[in-house]
Amino acid sequence: MTDFDDLPYPDFSLVRYATIKIFPVERIRGCCMNCEFCTVKGKPRCASVERLLGNLSHLVETHSARHFFIVDDLFGQQRDETIRFCRLFSEYQQRVGRRLEATVQIRLDKAKDPELLAAMRNAGIRYVAIGFESPIDEELKAMNKAIRSQEMLSLVRVFHRFGFVIHGMFIFGYPLVAPAGFTMAVSERVKRFKRFIGKAKIDTVQVLLPVPLPGTQLRRRLEQQNRVYPLQDVGWEYYDGNFPLFEPDEPMDARALQDGGRQIMGRVYSFRYVLCVVASILSFPTLAFSLHNLGLGWGRWYRSWRNNIIRFGGWLTIRKWSADFGRGDFLRRLQAAKQRLAVMHGDPPLHQEAYHLWETSDGAHETRRQR
Ligand code: SF4
Repeated sequence: MTDFDDLPYPDFSLVRYATIKIFPVERIRGCCMNCEFCTVKGKPRCASVERLLGNLSHLVETHSARHFFIVDDLFGQQRDETIRFCRLFSEYQQRVGRRLEATVQIRLDKAKDPELLAAMRNAGIRYVAIGFESPIDEELKAMNKAIRSQEMLSLVRVFHRFGFVIHGMFIFGYPLVAPAGFTMAVSERVKRFKRFIGKAKIDTVQVLLPVPLPGTQLRRRLEQQNRVYPLQDVGWEYYDGNFPLFEPDEPMDARALQDGGRQIMGRVYSFRYVLCVVASILSFPTLAFSLHNLGLGWGRWYRSWRNNIIRFGGWLTIRKWSADFGRGDFLRRLQAAKQRLAVMHGDPPLHQEAYHLWETSDGAHETRRQR
């Protein structure tokens, strides 16, 4: 399908039982990059800039929309057209006398194009979701990311300089292409991720486990190695990034891997941020000291307040997820999947292990062997 310009605009009046605050819009489907785990790579198919602007103005006029999520998997493809879009979007906002905001998904290497970043900021694009994926160079190489962790740290600083709010997306425990000659325990990986997220000063993060989706090179590779858990035991309903779906690289273990991802999330989304929200509110009057540059002072205050709210809200979400996980039967399914894989490999049957969920001091959960 390529004739996007001929399609009618999505009709959001059909959404009756939810309030949409951030309206999804799109211009380009597909991505010209080649990440091993990704399903959307392939020749990009594009609507025109005018079509996207028409969709945005339609939503402003019919739904009083103010915030948009441009869902293109890689914003900034067709660079010159993207800059033209940013300029026209900025002019549209001046014409209607409204300041609009947009979120995009973008690659870190777009930081090498300051003209593009400046055009984005002028157009009201403030929030960027960036797939950092991993701070471990060996994993980045296995993913075909064509970047190293040290370079990622210098590029993310450019996004900060332009005033973007950054949502970082990570994959924890990516399987290397054998023979890699590289091993790292889960605990060391957790440390590396936490250190990187702290150094990069990322506002909000999402840490998921690798998902070998059908049609990807990653799934083909893992299937050839007989590592994907059989669907009878671990079905598609678990393919959301929160569950281990294949035998991880040595010396990692599936449950430890899952706990590791949650430990990193638990560091970013924690109960203590409710105190930070209160501190942000109490510090509001200090904006008076920023009267010489109120815009900058407000921007800094709002960013910290927003991040604290999200980080506390994230803690509540993780807590609920952990409670639901404890009530579910995933650990039993995982054990059955490992047994089935062992039989397929002709290995001796695995020792049946019993696990239970353990609540840690900061309210997170981890699985522990029952003694
Ligand atoms: S992960 Fe992102 S950059 Fe990589 S192929 Fe997919 S859309 Fe493109």
